[in-house]
Parts: sequence; structure tokens; C-alpha cells
Amino acid sequence: MSVQQFAVFGHPIRHSLSPRIHQAFAAQFDIALDYQTIDATTEEFPAAVQRFFADGGRGANVTLPHKAAAFALATEHTPAARRAGTANVLTPLPDGRLAAHNTDGIGMLRDMTVRQGIDLRDRHVLLLGAGGAARGVAWNLLDAGIATLVIANRSPDAANALTAALDDPARVGTCRWEALADAGPPDLIVNATSAGVLGGSLQLPPTLLRDGASCYDLSYGAAANSFLAWARNAGARRTADGLGMLLETAADAFELWHGRLPDTGPVYRMLRPSS
Ligand code: NDP
Repeated sequence: MSVQQFAVFGHPIRHSLSPRIHQAFAAQFDIALDYQTIDATTEEFPAAVQRFFADGGRGANVTLPHKAAAFALATEHTPAARRAGTANVLTPLPDGRLAAHNTDGIGMLRDMTVRQGIDLRDRHVLLLGAGGAARGVAWNLLDAGIATLVIANRSPDAANALTAALDDPARVGTCRWEALADAGPPDLIVNATSAGVLGGSLQLPPTLLRDGASCYDLSYGAAANSFLAWARNAGARRTADGLGMLLETAADAFELWHGRLPDTGPVYRMLRPSS
């Protein structure tokens, strides 16, 4: 029997940890699988996905910048994918069509609350960014019982659109990027911008944070350094990057494809031996 084929699509994608993560999960259950990275530009993405599944692909992860395109390629959408309008996992349906899933929000929550010990109930949260990742996590923050959510994005239109989609005016509002100094002080800042990945920094006002707050960056590794260093200097008590989120979202994709939920703990320690 041939080995099952899986892949992650993105652009760029060469440095993705997903192949190592999925092979480590598979080893927990003695499953043999092939997991590739497929670099596809925006123009190439739809045909590359169709080809992968036509050739027998059993499942795909999708990352920057293709999450909205992945959603559009699918004909069935889970509720989490539908409300976000983006997908990070694609699975084939028996008739050749595709189903879209979004495990970003639930994966972030599990990492934040279980691994990082951040209590979200009744908290005031500032969400930086209003792109695909912010859309993937915003509803889950509200589901977790936060008190308020303020969304700030460099381009205000995207923040306004996400706020309107969330449709919870009692808890959700926006703040102009230039007025961030007046936004707080939040209990938790979630950085869902791609500034770190793109090699930029956020230029946040030093007075934004109060002592003892938590800061969480969806980016991980070097891409999170700038924001998390700012957070520590500004007095954050807890800081975390998005490596744990990546693992939790991968675990949910693995369960969708193989029917088994892997233990993310040993894989987290493998990827971050200092933890
Ligand atoms: P998008 O391209 O969809 O959105 C990017 C967002 O970042 C936009 O809101 C954009 O604002 C903002 N932004 C970019 N540069 C700057 C800057 N210099 N200053 C202020 N804002 C900026 O990307 P995604 O939402 O898909 O991804 C965002 C990040 O989340 C990435 O780093 C990605 O790696 C990470 N991520 C991590 C996951 C994990 O599992 N750990 C899962 C998903 C995402 P504007 O609208 O004004 O351009």
C-alpha cells in the first residue's frame, strides 16, 4: 500500500515546521506518511491544490497568504471556517470536492489557556491586526468569555469590517492605530500582525501596557522577538509566542486526517528544548 500524502501550501514555505511536526505526531502512532511543503504563488495556488488532491493527497495545511483562497476553493465549510472566511486545513470529500476547516482559533485558545496558563475570563483584550489570523481567532476569544475586545489595525477598514462581522457591539470596538496609547490598559495584547514575519516592528507606545499584563504573539521564533521584547520592557508578566498555537492547530488537523489526537507536549519540547 502506498504511503499517504499530506502537504502544507504557502508562499514562502521553505522554513515551515509542519513536516517535522506531522512526522513527530505520526511516530506517536506508528503511522507512515509523506508530508511535503508546496510553495505556490497566489496565481499558482488553486491549480496546485487541485493537482495535489487529484493525485491522491489526503489532506493539506494552508498558511500565509492562501487562507482566504483555500476557503474559496472548498464547497463545504465548518462553522469555524465560515465565520472567519478563511481555512487552514483542507480535506478531500468522496466526490472530489474539498471541505475547509479553520483550527487556528481553537488551537490558540488551547495553547493560551492550558500551556501558557492565561485566564481569559472577564479580561480586556487588545487584538493587533485584522488579517486572516486575526479573523481566525477573534470569535474564539469572545467564546472564551473575555469582557471586551478592542481591534486595532494599521488600515482601519479591515478592523471595522472584522468588528462588524463579530456583531457584538457590547463587547467589541475598534481603536485607530495612531490612538493606541489611549486604548488601554488591556489585560492581554494579542499580536496577530505579520510585522515580525515581514521583518518590521510595530512601533507601539510604551504606555500601552500596564504592569502584570500578558502578551501573546501569533508569530513564533525570531519573528516574535521584537514584540515580545517590547512587552517585557513595558512590564508584561507573561509573554508567549505562537509555537504552541502552531502545534495545537497541527494536532487538530492530524486528528481530522487520522482520527487520533497526538500529544503536543513532547513535540513542543523537541522544538524548544529550553522549555
Ligand atoms: P495577513 O497578511 O492576512 O494579515 C497581516 C496583518 O498584519 C494585517 O492586519 C496587516 O495590517 C498587519 N501588518 C503587517 N505589517 C504591519 C506593520 N508593519 N505594522 C502594523 N501592522 C502590520 O496575515 P495573517 O493574518 O494570516 O498572519 C498574521 C501573523 O500570524 C503571521 O505572522 C503568521 O505567521 C501568524 N500566524 C501564526 C499561526 C500559528 O499557528 N502560530 C497561525 C496563523 C497565523 P494591514 O491590514 O494594515 O496591512
